[in-house]
Amino acid sequence: VKCGNCGEVTEKESYVMLGEVVPIPKSRGQANLVQKLIECV
Ligand SMILES: [Zn+2]
Repeated sequence: VKCGNCGEVTEKESYVMLGEVVPIPKSRGQANLVQKLIECV
């Protein structure tokens, strides 16, 4: 899992799902779910 804030990849279950909509570079779509480390929120 990759943190949507700092980009850190970890196996820890310390992520939260956010309802933010973010554009995906080089893609037409958007990501409705963003995972971030709790410490980054
Ligand atoms: Zn982070």
